[in-house]
Amino acid sequence: MIKTIATLGSHCALQLLKGAKDEGFSTLLVTKQDRQSLYNRFKFIDNMIQVKKFSDIVSPTRIRRLKQTDSILIPHGTLISEVGVDAIEESLPIPVFGNRYILRWEADRLQKEKLMKAARLNLPKSYNDPSEIDRLVIAKLSGAAGGRGYFLATNTKSYEEKLAALRSDGLIRNSEEENVYIQEYIKGVPVYLQYFFSPLSRELEFFGIDRRYETNVDGLGRIPASAQIEMGTSAPSYIVVGNSPLVLRESLLDEVYKIGERFVRASQVLVPPGIVGPFCIEGIYDGDGKFVSFEFSGRIVAGTNLFIEGSPYTALLYDTKMSMGRRIALEVRRAIEANQVELITT
Ligand code: AMP
Repeated sequence: MIKTIATLGSHCALQLLKGAKDEGFSTLLVTKQDRQSLYNRFKFIDNMIQVKKFSDIVSPTRIRRLKQTDSILIPHGTLISEVGVDAIEESLPIPVFGNRYILRWEADRLQKEKLMKAARLNLPKSYNDPSEIDRLVIAKLSGAAGGRGYFLATNTKSYEEKLAALRSDGLIRNSEEENVYIQEYIKGVPVYLQYFFSPLSRELEFFGIDRRYETNVDGLGRIPASAQIEMGTSAPSYIVVGNSPLVLRESLLDEVYKIGERFVRASQVLVPPGIVGPFCIEGIYDGDGKFVSFEFSGRIVAGTNLFIEGSPYTALLYDTKMSMGRRIALEVRRAIEANQVELITT
């Protein structure tokens, strides 16, 4: 029987393990040595496994330790980026909370697009060839971590010039040039919609909204246009520094629930058992107030760290301060009590 909630020491580990403790679980953190002093500060972390690099979690000694402690592993963004989807699927013979197979769909642009289309989300137009560029586009280099190496272009000529500039700065390799994903740039307000789907109650809960604060793109607006022109062109970066909260106009909420429900249904058809637990749909309200989504995350997102005390939306659903971390632990506890752990793990 599951007794311990475990995760990697990064991303949203504090929130996850605090929530686990509040729900009565033991907690276990897999941490790199240089982060240990940070995590030692928090009394709700019962045990730590030290690793040199996170991918060492798949080693037989670490797996044995996770099994001995009856752990369930909660995946987050660092598990995907540092351990990788192949190892998550094949080399983690322990219970993983949620649908580990959907993480591959999140990591692959074509599969991602397929799932989002199946959910009938409005997607930005994507371009197969730079010669087709007919409006402002964002070009995403494959493997451009944190959006470094993304650039904007308004036509084919400016696209080629910017690509050449990245090449001469050594910021792009030839192999990456073939895999540039060109997408219509949506002008509007970016929002990140956080949801939780419970396979036990079969209900969708809307948990909260965040906005990412990204450097240096979010700082460019403080520089007057004349100075930007003097500086010459430089590709903005989209490295997330933090998140800030947002509440939506109440009239938009009904659509937000419908978007989430369509996504859950599409995931159940394409990636059984579908979404289990937290997920996020990332998009932009455009100039007409239409929601256009460019991304999803099939697991907890770090933007939920804002709401350790609950969000304006969880306050409407729960009488306790319900964080996403605590909601996950609550689902694990309910699954154990109902003898249905197979519904929440893969
Ligand atoms: P991504 O790596 O796809 O999450 O994108 C990183 C950041 O680029 C996002 O958080 C947005 O700020 C921005 N972005 C990505 N796609 C678009 C788009 N189609 N239109 C406008 N901004 C975008």
